Amino acid sequence: MADSFDEECDYLFKAVLTGDSGVGKSNLLSRFAKDEFRLDSKPTIGVEFAYRNIKVGDKLIKAQIWDTAGQERFRAITSSYYRGALGAMLVYDITRRATFENVKKWLQELRQFGSGDMVVVLVGNKTDLGHSREVSKEEGNSVAETEGLCFMETSALEKVNVEEAFMHMITKIHEITSQKSL
Ligand code: GDP
Repeated sequence: MADSFDEECDYLFKAVLTGDSGVGKSNLLSRFAKDEFRLDSKPTIGVEFAYRNIKVGDKLIKAQIWDTAGQERFRAITSSYYRGALGAMLVYDITRRATFENVKKWLQELRQFGSGDMVVVLVGNKTDLGHSREVSKEEGNSVAETEGLCFMETSALEKVNVEEAFMHMITKIHEITSQKSL
């Protein structure tokens, strides 16, 4: 569902961030939306979201990205979080294997509450901490292939692939929604 928005932009897309607590979701979002990294970031309670306008072809898209803002720690994410989302970025931490093991659980939730054709990008974050890596790139890739997801490794700290991961998701959403409206 791509809503007409206002004269400023052609479409408004909602996308959500999901994954375990502490994997870097809010830092990925602030990198993308404001180009900031917060070393002392403390998750707050209550959903947060950020906007960014992106030009795709001749269309101006307003991407509205929702962040769990710490609620995932309490399993308090409800169906309203996912409602209307056209895309999701499912994040794990490459230095914490447990966060990768939980990817399946987050996917189940996405499939339960989200729309069937949601664009899901699996993101292995914190590549700058390569010396503490517990999940190989191949493992990430393999889960993504099996589950039919896009896959990327990122570093919110060093600004590696963050823009690319979000842009990939947004461009894919745009492709799908524009095909539907043909
Ligand atoms: P969230 O709970 O998933 O939203 O995670 P946060 O964005 O709050 O990040 C949790 C912690 O990981 C914070 O201390 C961040 O500074 C740190 N962090 C996030 N992304 C990266 C990264 O790419 N590299 C490193 N080294 N630390 C990161």
